Amino acid sequence: MQNTQNTQNKIPIDLHCHSDFSDGSYNVKDLLDLIVKHEGKHIALTDHDTVSGIESATTYAKSLNLNLIAGVEISVTWREHLIHIVGLNINYTNKLLNDELYKLRQARIERSKKIAERLESIGIKNSLAGAMNFCKNPENISRTHFMKFLIANNYASRNNAFDKYLAPGKIAYIKQQWATLEQSIYWIRQAGGVAVIAHPCRYKLNKNLLIELIKDFKQLGGMAIEVVTPNHSTNDANTIALIAKEYDLLASLGSDFHEYKPSQIITPGKNYPLPKICKPVYQSEYLNLIIS
Ligand code: AMP
Ligand code: MN
Ligand code: MN
Ligand code: MN
Repeated sequence: MQNTQNTQNKIPIDLHCHSDFSDGSYNVKDLLDLIVKHEGKHIALTDHDTVSGIESATTYAKSLNLNLIAGVEISVTWREHLIHIVGLNINYTNKLLNDELYKLRQARIERSKKIAERLESIGIKNSLAGAMNFCKNPENISRTHFMKFLIANNYASRNNAFDKYLAPGKIAYIKQQWATLEQSIYWIRQAGGVAVIAHPCRYKLNKNLLIELIKDFKQLGGMAIEVVTPNHSTNDANTIALIAKEYDLLASLGSDFHEYKPSQIITPGKNYPLPKICKPVYQSEYLNLIIS
């Protein structure tokens, strides 16, 4: 959402955040401290393809009087598109979920070797070791870590590392079969959670394809969609709110926080409220937050 409103209007709920267990820059403790500083109260840790941070986050959140919701953001391939499905309020000890996420992380390690080979082919040496230097959890290496390596070594700027090398169609983009949409929803549901389509406008799907994604998602047991996220303009949020109403999906909101820069509007812990027509996932039977 663009920063057109007074940040005082934000509500202290954030259902999408990353730590350095995936591609966030902050460790769990520093992330939660930052959330408290920004007056967040209800926070979901949703690292990519891992729940490794949830236990320590739960313990530390208790000491801060913060309501920590166990979450995950699963990488999915749907009709050749990389889609992210967030799971909220999961039992993070669920064996199926843990076993399957482990396989996704193994695939990340294999992919990282291929990314490095591609970069090597255009003269960019030692990128795997270089990316690993930015990766606190080596079993969960991400394109973000390659981006940090490329920037640090002047191969790219923060604005164009993906466009130059890492985005679909670029030299270091490796096509990957992640989880299927069906698997991601099944794992989340088996772990007692609710499945949410993350940042739907980021995939650049045309309207028909987005509706097909939503129909598949619903038919497979998905329940919610992100409406308010920094990935969306105000217009995007209003469009998705209308679609959510039409397809009877609950609405979610989150900062998709990865790193803090004082100049940026993205801070973890608080978000602009959902449009009035939305049914918030945080007030549904799946989450039922007590908002004080
Ligand atoms: P991966 O899961 O390893 O394929 O990496 C995807 C992650 O890269 C996303 O979760 C974002 O955090 C980040 N990302 C994707 N596209 C961009 C972009 N254009 N600029 C900066 N970061 C991006
Ligand atoms: Mn990310
Ligand atoms: Mn995402
Ligand atoms: Mn995310």
